[in-house]
Amino acid sequence: MRISNLSKTYRLKSGEVRALNDVNMELPENGTVFILGKSGSGKTTLLNLLSGLDSADEGSVIEVGGKNIVTCSRAERDGYRNSHCGFVFQEYNLIPELDVKENVGLSLELQGNKDNKSAVENALKLVELEGYGNRKITELSGGQKQRVAIARAIVKDPKIVFADEPTGALDSDTGEMVMKLLKNISKDRLVIIVSHDKEFAEKYGDRIIELSDGKVISDGDGEYSAVEQKQAEFKKPKLPLKTAFKMGSSTFRAHPIRLVFTLLLSVMAFTLLGVAVSASLNSYENILYNAMIADGAEYSAVYGYNAPEPIDIVGAADVFGEENTFGVVRTDGIAANNPAPSVYDSILPHSFAVMTEQKAAVNRFTILGRLPTRGDELCITAFSADIIGRVIFGESEPESIVGKVLTVGDRDYTVVGIIDTRFDAVPFDGLKNTTELGGLAELYSITLECSVHNLMFVSELGECDLVVIKNTRAVTAYLRSNDRFRVYNATVQNAEKYTEQIKRIGTWSGVLAAVFGVFATLLLLNFLLQSFTDRYRSLGILKANGANTAGLFKVFFCEAAVISGIVFILSSIITVAACECMNAVFGIAFFGAYYFSLPLLFCAVAAIGLVGCVLPLRGIMRMTSIEVINRE
Ligand code: ADP
Ligand code: MG
Repeated sequence: MRISNLSKTYRLKSGEVRALNDVNMELPENGTVFILGKSGSGKTTLLNLLSGLDSADEGSVIEVGGKNIVTCSRAERDGYRNSHCGFVFQEYNLIPELDVKENVGLSLELQGNKDNKSAVENALKLVELEGYGNRKITELSGGQKQRVAIARAIVKDPKIVFADEPTGALDSDTGEMVMKLLKNISKDRLVIIVSHDKEFAEKYGDRIIELSDGKVISDGDGEYSAVEQKQAEFKKPKLPLKTAFKMGSSTFRAHPIRLVFTLLLSVMAFTLLGVAVSASLNSYENILYNAMIADGAEYSAVYGYNAPEPIDIVGAADVFGEENTFGVVRTDGIAANNPAPSVYDSILPHSFAVMTEQKAAVNRFTILGRLPTRGDELCITAFSADIIGRVIFGESEPESIVGKVLTVGDRDYTVVGIIDTRFDAVPFDGLKNTTELGGLAELYSITLECSVHNLMFVSELGECDLVVIKNTRAVTAYLRSNDRFRVYNATVQNAEKYTEQIKRIGTWSGVLAAVFGVFATLLLLNFLLQSFTDRYRSLGILKANGANTAGLFKVFFCEAAVISGIVFILSSIITVAACECMNAVFGIAFFGAYYFSLPLLFCAVAAIGLVGCVLPLRGIMRMTSIEVINRE
């Protein structure tokens, strides 16, 4: 190692501090070099510069492995620490989130060695800590911690070990042991020890360099000339995901209350967002369709709207299927002499359609008698037969209608058959004894007018006035794509009301989501940023041991991923539950499209998580390791 013109100036608000002033020396490839000096003489600064933990002034040269680590790239300096340097600090600087064997194994992992079990065991054996692998850092004495630090430094077999007052916090016996260990490992590497203990230096040092006020005032072997070194390969550090995850998830245990509070508010905000999005995803057509399903509205009457030409029955049959489509022609209705005794019985058929054997079979309609074959024959439905029988003919048996002559408008028709369309009239039983025209009566008339249940069937028809269609999603989709048509059934009126309600729910949950969202986002970001500051020291140590920015990012990414994942999963579940609950309350599935809001939720949560781990990282990228460690 060749050091020339090495200077370091700290720029403070109160002025400049020249901690090192033009230091020149050449160091051997093995042996123990002691740096002595009073407090404040620049020893730590020197060590931090030589190990690439801190950046030197312009013009300084530290040549290691054929490279000047002062001017090389940040990535190369990370690589230098990773592959060449081991560290032993006065305050041990172990990572509390990891246990003993993980702390020791970390430097090997960073070098890309996954299988490090035996190497870690050997290193622990060397520092006489066999069997301590699973201990937590907090369960060790000072001397034991320092020996773990030495094990961590030597496990990767570095070319240089830097030790800053390694015995400063230890009693003299333990200190002696640590010194012996360091002396031992200096046989095949350079060990640079900073100390203010002259006795130790004289006992264990191969060379003693003394500093004062940032200058070398004595050097035991000042004339030493370093051997020219070959260009070394600095290994790019790699932090395994498992270790990053372990460090990343450790804050959850450290701040459970803050975590719970953050999660609670975030989940609330994102659930509201999910509900708002679900509500806005509901098109009128979607609401209508779901309302039709819920109301049991089997048929819709589709009629031309703003359209001068008659409705195109063939075109409609192409879209909805021949068997689901009934072209309808309105007539003047059945001539009734008897006044209807109730609302129920006032529903006499008014319209004609054509029924075929095939349509009847597909719709599972049963035919009593036969289908009409001539222009003066017709069939009626079983439902109409009951009313016509009682109101027109005074018969209680519907079957007795077959063979009778029915006057429709001014023409006479012979009834040749009764078609059972399986109409469920039970919901309208209340109308059997009432003449009041209430909501139920309205629903009743619309339901029948838009269905096949009270049509009359003839053998042939001319141009249709409207088309009765068996409801599918295609019906509402068809309307959406074709504004010439309007649909008419009992549910349409309700759907309009539902649309209003959903809009209101969407607006309110949207407003609440925005309000809670601001708080939740701030809280979530604050949590991530705070846990970042909590761990400056651990991160600095990680960086000192060779981890690069990508490695630190991984730690935060894991943390953000875990917390965002929890928020996403919980809000998704509650969003789905909330939408289902509202469906239950309204009695229809108008929050049917909520699953489309889940990907959107995911993106929102992921974006915040990403900001939460990128934001703090931007600051740390520009800092040196020592700045990160000392940040606390
Ligand atoms: P030693 O390790 O020998 O006690 P240091 O290298 O820590 O000495 O410090 C050398 C000088 O640089 C001291 O005057 C100290 O106040 C100053 N110094 C060290 N670190 C910083 C810093 N981060 N910012 C400003 N001044 C510093
Ligand atoms: Mg110091």
